[in-house]
Amino acid sequence: MAGRLSGKIALISGGTSGIGEATSDLFVAEGAKVVLTGRSVEKGRAIADRLGSEKALYLQCDVTDEGDIKHSIDSTVERFGGLDILFNNAGGPTGGGVFDVTPEQLDYAVKLLLTSVMVTTRYAIPHLRKNGGSVINNSSIAGLRYRQGNVVYSVIKAAVTHYSRIAGIELGPMGIRVNTISPGAIATPIFWGGSERANTLPEEENQRKMAKLQRNLAKATPTPRSGLAMDIAEGALYLASDAGSYVNCHDLVVDGGRTSMFYEPS
Ligand code: NAP
Repeated sequence: MAGRLSGKIALISGGTSGIGEATSDLFVAEGAKVVLTGRSVEKGRAIADRLGSEKALYLQCDVTDEGDIKHSIDSTVERFGGLDILFNNAGGPTGGGVFDVTPEQLDYAVKLLLTSVMVTTRYAIPHLRKNGGSVINNSSIAGLRYRQGNVVYSVIKAAVTHYSRIAGIELGPMGIRVNTISPGAIATPIFWGGSERANTLPEEENQRKMAKLQRNLAKATPTPRSGLAMDIAEGALYLASDAGSYVNCHDLVVDGGRTSMFYEPS
């Protein structure tokens, strides 16, 4: 079945790597026009070129910058004539355990993972309410369960999930649905320092790391394979499409069963 997003216009932050790139591919394949954003100009342009200029546009955007956020919304509406789907996906590793937390680390992580989601949503509301819209915020199972050495990331992702429930209640009457996806362990460059670090490595090195990561992740869930970026893209498609039209304030866990496993801290 194709065409599930026919006539829809989507803005995908963090579309230059991993989950955002896979979602850009899938949304275009399903008929959407997609604006994908990120800081990596070369990668972003290459992805948009591959998808075709009629269907995709890359915009440089740092989601920690309010001016960039506003520009990405305005440019989407200007280029394609509206906005139906917002996928707040950009993010990166913000590690550190309880003993490591510093105000600087916390400030940056909040800006990157939470402020970006809330501010982008606010700027998108006037456009989304015109046709009824779907906001999908990329959270994490780290927001649901303890994850060692990742207190800042986990706490902020929990806040993203809770924010999305509240936003879904406030915006639902305007026809705007707000949901989260909580991915489990998905094989992307986030595991070796994020897209920024991956951009500095030779392609063969990235491929070697990806193959090793997929082998290891396949051992860590009841479903005997690694989570893939396309698994999350499929979840986003469900929430964005008419199939998900009665789904609001929901957290869609896509983790191969990982959160149901008993976990003993080491
Ligand atoms: P990834 O491959 O490293 O991609 C991260 C994306 O975010 C890149 O496109 C990157 O683009 C963008 N980004 C990072 N910092 C940014 C900034 N300041 N401004 C704009 N864009 C920025 O990682 P991923 O796994 O696909 O992660 C995507 C989302 O999924 C994140 O929110 C992450 O927390 C969440 N998630 C991932 C997993 C997993 O296991 N992979 C699990 C749970 C949740 P540029 O480098 O071009 O800026």
